[in-house]
Amino acid sequence: MAKVTHLECSACNKRLEAGRIENLCTCGGPLLARYDLDTIRYRWRRREVRNGPSTMWRYAPVLPANGSIVTLGEGWTPLVRANRLGAMLAAGNLWVKDESLNPTGSFKARGLSCAVSVCVEMGIRKVAMASAGNASSALAAYAAAAGIEANIFMPRDVPQPNYLECKAHGAHVTLVDGLISDCALLVAGRAAEEGWFDIGGMREPYRLEGKKTMGYEVAEQLDWELPDAIVYPTGGGVGLIAMWKAFQEMEKLGWIGGRRPKMIAVQAEGCQPIVRAFEENASESRFFENSHTIAAGLRVPKPIGDFLVLQALRQSAGTAIAVSDDEIMDAAVQLAGSEGIYPAPEGAASAAALKKLLQSGFLAPGSRIVLYNTATGLKYPEAWASRLGQALAATEHDKLGGLITPR
Ligand SMILES: *Cc1c(COP(=O)(O)O)cnc(C)c1O
Ligand SMILES: [Zn+2]
Repeated sequence: MAKVTHLECSACNKRLEAGRIENLCTCGGPLLARYDLDTIRYRWRRREVRNGPSTMWRYAPVLPANGSIVTLGEGWTPLVRANRLGAMLAAGNLWVKDESLNPTGSFKARGLSCAVSVCVEMGIRKVAMASAGNASSALAAYAAAAGIEANIFMPRDVPQPNYLECKAHGAHVTLVDGLISDCALLVAGRAAEEGWFDIGGMREPYRLEGKKTMGYEVAEQLDWELPDAIVYPTGGGVGLIAMWKAFQEMEKLGWIGGRRPKMIAVQAEGCQPIVRAFEENASESRFFENSHTIAAGLRVPKPIGDFLVLQALRQSAGTAIAVSDDEIMDAAVQLAGSEGIYPAPEGAASAAALKKLLQSGFLAPGSRIVLYNTATGLKYPEAWASRLGQALAATEHDKLGGLITPR
């Protein structure tokens, strides 16, 4: 069963044939995969989902691959009830979707398992990507598993673990003295002559399909009742757009009703194009100059899918909010200390934002809230070392019990 019936431009609604190699629409808009949900809903029931594998491929009927799946066990990550953090923040019904358990340590595994599977199916042998971090190591891993060539362009100051993983998995890595947007221009400039398929965020339709399983899973894990709010650390915004799409699909499948969570995009103060656009009531963002933040995955100065993120925020009566790097790492320490989850700064950013949203009254203490920890803190040794090093210097070392002399 060829499941994707067609691709649809998210900007101009143009329809394109499925089963062909496509990047952006001619108008520049990202393409979305569409399915025959009216037929699927009679062949695949909600209660049957639990019989599927304990990976994101339990939702295979609404995923694009037709059989040649490249999987490392991605998805079906725990939804952790965060009682202790909730008590500290006065949030009585708080959950953390812990994406740190994915292969390569981040939710990027979902998108790349899906997109690389489709590449294999279409006979693509060489792919390229500009990435500020976790997407690169996920691509490298899935390309290695599929036996295809990965060409990766990364800003030179990415966290070192991602670089090491890419090299370990045998990818061709080019470090660039610039931002992810500079890396993207390099890929775009060379893709045609090198015969690379550009698998960059929102530049092809299938990574988004993998990421949407974060939305299916949260619904299934909460017994098909969506939470009141989803707090999501937003760089390119692909995960947020993807979950919004998942909710629309689930409604068409008859699995959920029309109620939606408030979608909340969290950004870093040093790179907040979506927050600015949301506050200015603009339909798209402007390039955010001199972007900088400890949360490398949030450093996307002009997301391609910005208009789709903004639509989802507004349609869901959600919001966009920025947090500082200090607030991020304070929240990281709090999350690690109260829940045993060692978060990436991006994941901690959602906890930092939650604190503010409860204080301002935007979210009520009794609301059912899901935070996304999008990656493991193990990938950010510099950020953690600098935060904990500061704490040691600022207090008395002995009182922390840090130093013992054996006799
Ligand atoms: C890529 C990334 C993000 C941002 O993802 P989008 O869905 O593109 O906004 C957030 N957190 C981490 C850890 C990431 O790697
Ligand atoms: Zn278009």
